[in-house]
Amino acid sequence: MAAFVNHGKRRWMTLLLLVVIAVQTTLCGSAVLDRRPVYDGRKIEREAEEGKVHCSRSRSRTAHKIIDEYLLPFVQQKSYNLSSACRLNPENDMFKDQELKKDMIRVSQWRCDYCKKTFRSEDYLDNHMDNRHLDLLDLSANRCLADVCGAIHCDHVASQGKAGAKKRCNRAAVIKNKHLCESLASSCFPPEDGAVALQLNEFFLRQFCDSHTCDGTPKHFPRGSGVRKNKSLFMAVCLFTIILLLIFYLAVYLYKKDMNISAARLKHLRQHSILKAQKSKKY
Ligand SMILES: [Zn+2]
Repeated sequence: MAAFVNHGKRRWMTLLLLVVIAVQTTLCGSAVLDRRPVYDGRKIEREAEEGKVHCSRSRSRTAHKIIDEYLLPFVQQKSYNLSSACRLNPENDMFKDQELKKDMIRVSQWRCDYCKKTFRSEDYLDNHMDNRHLDLLDLSANRCLADVCGAIHCDHVASQGKAGAKKRCNRAAVIKNKHLCESLASSCFPPEDGAVALQLNEFFLRQFCDSHTCDGTPKHFPRGSGVRKNKSLFMAVCLFTIILLLIFYLAVYLYKKDMNISAARLKHLRQHSILKAQKSKKY
């Protein structure tokens, strides 16, 4: 009987150990997710304006990524729609359709989905798009997303992870960018449009405009990345659910196994006592 109790104890100790390992795995997983870089950056940057298009493709791409990561998740959370007149609306990126036609097969192989030609780098593919498919750009409206780069810190994001001497703060440029930033806040989130617009206006000023200063060490995007937050939360919830299910099924399995062992032992004991009784009757 004592051996039976010890056997049961060992099983529950194993279960406890598994729970501890599972919880540790969840915590470590979350930590790894949080250490992921906010933005990977582009190795190759091309700032030059090309041909008749006076809009930088690479800066538009950077602006698009910043908006996707640091603005849109928060705007979507509030179910707010950016107007077409708002210059931060991703629809106002003239390169949007062409960017979707670029296929990264691997880091050193990029394909143009218009003509299926492949290139060694994204930079070469950008050149190809400018040389061969410029006619596919809709130039009818002023839709250069790179024009808002000064306000939303494209240079800061593009220089992340790159070594270089710290530049001196250009006070005139900072004032100009802050003014552009504030005008974007007013036009995209007019406070008179209601409570949600007012909240997003305040958010935009904190997230993008406050860091346009030469005083102290400005913190860019203080409200963080909406994409990373959502992904981390989703991954943590998924992991937690999987672990809970595993623990549940393991507990059910161990419980059933223990019950079967107990039933077998009881049967054995019963048979043993019947045999014993029969033997004692004989004598
Ligand atoms: Zn092509």
